[in-house]
Amino acid sequence: MMQETDVLIIGGGLTGLTLNYLLRKAGYAALILEARDRLGGRIWTKTTTEGVKIDMGATWLGQKHTHLVQLLQELKLPVFQQRLGTKALFEQHQQDTAQIVPLPPNNEPSYRIQGGTSALIQALARHLPDEAVLLDTPGEKIHAKADGVYTFSGALTIKSKVVVSTLPPSLLSHRIELQPALPVALIRLMQQTHTWMGESIKAGVAYAQPFWREHGHTGTAFSHTGPFTELYDHTDAEEEHFALKGFLRNDMANLSAPDRKRLVEGQLLKFFGQPALEYASYEETVWPMEPYTYAPYEHAVLPHQNNGHAMYRKPYWNGRLFLAGSETADAFPGYMEGAVRSAEWVYQALSKSPAR
Ligand SMILES: Cc1cc2nc3c(=O)[nH]c(=O)nc-3n(C[C@H](O)[C@H](O)[C@H](O)COP(=O)(O)OP(=O)(O)OC[C@H]3O[C@@H](n4cnc5c(N)ncnc54)[C@H](O)[C@@H]3O)c2cc1C
Repeated sequence: MMQETDVLIIGGGLTGLTLNYLLRKAGYAALILEARDRLGGRIWTKTTTEGVKIDMGATWLGQKHTHLVQLLQELKLPVFQQRLGTKALFEQHQQDTAQIVPLPPNNEPSYRIQGGTSALIQALARHLPDEAVLLDTPGEKIHAKADGVYTFSGALTIKSKVVVSTLPPSLLSHRIELQPALPVALIRLMQQTHTWMGESIKAGVAYAQPFWREHGHTGTAFSHTGPFTELYDHTDAEEEHFALKGFLRNDMANLSAPDRKRLVEGQLLKFFGQPALEYASYEETVWPMEPYTYAPYEHAVLPHQNNGHAMYRKPYWNGRLFLAGSETADAFPGYMEGAVRSAEWVYQALSKSPAR
């Protein structure tokens, strides 16, 4: 089967959806190819059976994220401040009880999007007609030929004038065959570009009541031992649904899901006592197990390594291939702000491009 479009966007995460939004606002059409059965990529708000929304991926933004803040305002999506409180639990050693420590004044508060971060994805998806997105359709090969760029996924071929990859560069280098081959230096760079949060594990625990507050806790906790290394009050803006949510130690990815959950329960019991075990739901996402986010690196890379590299800010194949995505942005790469900026950069370049 063959489809044709001017601009093919590979990946329906924040970068791909923002680019589609900008193109459509200016009267251009685009097609999004998305490997997963959902949009959003590293933005994923899970809703428990009790209706508690837990952000398993991106959660926080700050006022310094000016392009994201502007987009949220344009889409009329309100934000609210993350509750931190003035004290936190601190666990230094597993055998010791957790201490209560004062938190320093928070000069740069973090904010969350009301309704969960996926509210941003849903708002952007309203600007994406059904026929302009193909879910469950992983791009496998992209071949540039004289008469156009051909992208292949199973039996489907899409011919376009321009292809914009929004995959984290390391993932692109591992998963999609590109012909003609990109410059060797660029391939190496992509392989060694860190995918922000690709190794992380998030877990959230939903409760009928914020019982920890009744016991004088803020819900904020930091631990040197884990499984939670950071934990926060994940109650919604309306104060109607209650949860604790945080990051588990990355090496917990090697455990089975029941073993991870057992360790989480043990730590919550230690922190907050018996009521912590009377939870309504437990959710976790092990991002390194997500094949459409993470591919293991050949050599160790450092957090943010090569993020925002200048080689990402020029098109290849005579203006017919753009390497976009948060990790390629010139500011705040790896973050939602980077994704928005990356989409804006490609949009500007495409607006001037004769290839489009
Ligand atoms: C646990 C976690 C916590 C985070 N916390 C924060 C935070 O608090 N604040 C913040 O600003 N940022 C945070 N981030 C980072 C933020 O999520 C990303 O910067 C942003 O969502 C990246 O958007 P993107 O569209 O560039 O990439 P992605 O979201 O990775 O989108 C890429 C898309 O491409 C798709 N795809 C992959 N392979 C293929 C293929 N072969 N064919 C077609 N489609 C494909 C994927 O399914 C995905 O939808 C966090 C990320 C994680 C994982």
